[in-house]
Amino acid sequence: MTETEINKEKVRVISHPVVLQNLCIMRDKNTDTQNIRIAARKITRCLLYEAVKNLPLVRQPITTPISTFDAPTINPDIDIIISPILRAGLIFTDEAIDILPQAHIRHIGMYRDEKTLKPVWYYNKVPALDRNPNGIFVYITDPMLATGNSMLDAVNLYVRKGIPTENIKCISIISAPQGIKLIQDRYPTIELITASIDEGLNEKGYIIPGMGDAGDRIFNTL
Ligand code: URA
Repeated sequence: MTETEINKEKVRVISHPVVLQNLCIMRDKNTDTQNIRIAARKITRCLLYEAVKNLPLVRQPITTPISTFDAPTINPDIDIIISPILRAGLIFTDEAIDILPQAHIRHIGMYRDEKTLKPVWYYNKVPALDRNPNGIFVYITDPMLATGNSMLDAVNLYVRKGIPTENIKCISIISAPQGIKLIQDRYPTIELITASIDEGLNEKGYIIPGMGDAGDRIFNTL
């Protein structure tokens, strides 16, 4: 698998120097859990800012200490859903609710069957959506987009609930071309936001060079 087989127009790679510095820290096998978390949070904040930059705005009349004017702000009538894929995706949530306090957090629980590499669902806290889906914006988070199977299942869940694919974004810190391709083959218009597109996957489905098992390294369960 090569990067040339993916549609790079729909993958936003955030190679900001601060992101790269922290990615370097995260990947290093000698970095301990505490410093992995610190680095990961700095990256996730940056990715989240990028991912939400097309949220619809409205003008809200406010009064500053100097004068009154119509200030642009995020439309308060939309619903923002952050959907972390458990457990590693949780690393995004503190930053997400910090920068978007109005967001709903909808956890998705899946683990990877080590033999088949397919996702096995064990938790789904995404209720039926009772409003016009055009006003719902979904950000699915998982630090590692490897085979793409879990991310694809999560996207399918929201598409089945009627969310337009333009309103769904997949955010990962490190991505493999295979995972990106899987999503794009099914949903060519979905946008992915990542800090790196790595070389590929090893026989166990780990990203090369990657950072090893993100959940284990973030939660100190090695
Ligand atoms: N999940 C991880 O945590 N790491 C990988 O490299 C691939 C999937």
